[in-house]
Amino acid sequence: MQTREVVEGRLKSFSTKNSEREALIRKWFADSGCKGANLSEQALGRNFPPNVICVLPGETQEVILVGAHTDKVESFGDGVVDNWTGAVLLPALLDSLGGQTRHHTLIFIGFSGEEKGLAGSQYYVDHLTNEQRGHIEGVVNFDSLGLGPTAVWASHADKVLLDALASVAAASKLPVTALNVPEGATADSESFARYQIPRITLHSVTQKTWPILHSPSDKMAAVRMNDYYDSYKLIAAYLAYLDDALKPAGAAKTVKVAQ
Ligand SMILES: [Zn+2]
Repeated sequence: MQTREVVEGRLKSFSTKNSEREALIRKWFADSGCKGANLSEQALGRNFPPNVICVLPGETQEVILVGAHTDKVESFGDGVVDNWTGAVLLPALLDSLGGQTRHHTLIFIGFSGEEKGLAGSQYYVDHLTNEQRGHIEGVVNFDSLGLGPTAVWASHADKVLLDALASVAAASKLPVTALNVPEGATADSESFARYQIPRITLHSVTQKTWPILHSPSDKMAAVRMNDYYDSYKLIAAYLAYLDDALKPAGAAKTVKVAQ
């Protein structure tokens, strides 16, 4: 695990410029050993910084995709909660999972342009081949952690991924509650749902804390470090669990039928 000091230090060294935010995550991926062809950027066009992508190869081509958006909304707040809390965990989770052999290839992505209509995640999934999309066993996305204990957007989560999260939470004694996000809100996970790719989004937002997002109150002072570090521990344990639990290597692929 990355130490609480490092995670907290990175959280505090946020930039309010989206291009610098992307560059910081790229640097920390590199610091954690992601390099060469495994570390790349995907250009979206001149309106956005690139997506940043780190691949951690596993024993098979089956993929667990781990995502969080790096951008903040323009004009209001520091965007620490939404979503620097999520972005900072990407390289920290690479540290947690990089040490041992895994069945799945893990792809960590800092998505750009989430606040402009999920631009980065849509671009990413739209530009995969059918075969590449078929290899993604699950997408674990996190957005706006640290306002309180870990929460899950249950109504927009794949059942298998949701049950696995409940098991890990129970075993690790780390809290997680089902809290749906308000009508009209969305997250990068929904770009993958359009292709029937199983997805789940973790957050920490309650009805009471919802007004913090996209407001001047979205700053470091809003983050509860104990809850945030618990979210990191829970997600690290969850990804390790999913690597074992999702579709054993060699099992026949389920045919996904469009609804
Ligand atoms: Zn967000």
